[in-house]
Amino acid sequence: MASAWKAERVRSATTTIFAEMSALAVSTGSVNLGQGFPDTDGPAFMLDEARAAIAAGVNQYPPGRGIAPLRQAIAAHSRRHYGLEYDPDTEVLVTTGATEALAAAILAFVDPGDEVVALEPFYDSYAASIDLAGGKRVGVGVFGPEFRLDHAELAAAFSSRTKLVLLNSPHNPTGVVLDRADLTEVARLAVAHDVLVVCDEVYEHLVFDDAEHLPLATLPGMRERTIRISSSGKTFSATGWKIGWALGPAELVGEVTAVKQFLTYVSGAPFQPAVARALDEGDAWVEGNRRSLQGKRDRLAAGLRSVGLEPVLPRGTYFLTTDVRPLGYADGVEFCRDLPRRCGVVAIPHQVFYDDLEAGRPYVRWAFCKQDEVLDEAVRRLARLREPRAAGLAERVG
Ligand code: PMP
Ligand code: GLN
Repeated sequence: MASAWKAERVRSATTTIFAEMSALAVSTGSVNLGQGFPDTDGPAFMLDEARAAIAAGVNQYPPGRGIAPLRQAIAAHSRRHYGLEYDPDTEVLVTTGATEALAAAILAFVDPGDEVVALEPFYDSYAASIDLAGGKRVGVGVFGPEFRLDHAELAAAFSSRTKLVLLNSPHNPTGVVLDRADLTEVARLAVAHDVLVVCDEVYEHLVFDDAEHLPLATLPGMRERTIRISSSGKTFSATGWKIGWALGPAELVGEVTAVKQFLTYVSGAPFQPAVARALDEGDAWVEGNRRSLQGKRDRLAAGLRSVGLEPVLPRGTYFLTTDVRPLGYADGVEFCRDLPRRCGVVAIPHQVFYDDLEAGRPYVRWAFCKQDEVLDEAVRRLARLREPRAAGLAERVG
């Protein structure tokens, strides 16, 4: 229940599904395959660097845009991986995670009544930040069972009120990685409608098989109208550090910076040199982690299949999706509510990411960024799904 004072603008802002499900996992002793965070640390040299920074007194406000070595490392990373050049002094901003970069960009560019085109399902902070800005989200369905972007539907989402496209690839929660044909269409529409694009690329390095992450900004005509956002949380398994960044043309990054100043002012001083070092020296670690995650994806997929859940194999991110209907559930929310009691496992219902609830109803998201033994234990527990539903419950109650 909201208080009588709660602002209409933040009506969608309640406890996030991730926080709620992680708390449920702790209170029920469940294996947590809900919230997306790894259960192992990032590169040891990065952790050492942060400890050393604290010991050396790097504990006061850093510069508003981030320390120079980190901005330089972010720009060098972009050049090395994608051939995209940014000036570390004017075109790079360090933020408090990708979440703040997204919020600051949306607040900087969206006026009340402006439309924001985004792939649906949407990551939860998109809805909240668009609401905060008074904007209107317009979803382009990447819906099951195919989970594919329909170009005609994408084109139909644009109108004279479209101000911004918010593009997430690799895409949470579906694991879809947009290909060159998809991106070419986004670019064509963005130029035709003269809109800005904010690209959420936090899973840029978590791509599998033959999938490749292609930043939209590499396409002709796009660099000047694109803000690229990423974060050390996913790339270096440090989701609690909240060091993210935004890259783009100086004028646009300046406008995002102006808003960021009044959200948090600056971000995590002692973590900044550590992330700078990880970006400069961590490519081999990142590649090893990517390969390991691909193995974990296949391990959990095989386990889910063994209990009667056919996974949609993601080409990116660290999330798998299954349809729960073969197990006699019509609804992923009901399934996820039952799961901790019935099996001692937590997962996330897709529905929380949709405006079109029907489209998300049967799907559930499973995080596989966990140690192999944790994934195996989850699958062992999920074997109870093979028992008749009522009997499973009765056994626990009785
Ligand atoms: N965008 C997407 C698609 C995400 O899944 C997440 C969660 N990592 C974020 C943004 C937020 O990233 P951060 O933790 O760096 O704020
Ligand atoms: N990005 C993470 C996920 O999708 C959650 C981050 C959060 O809890 N805000 O699971």
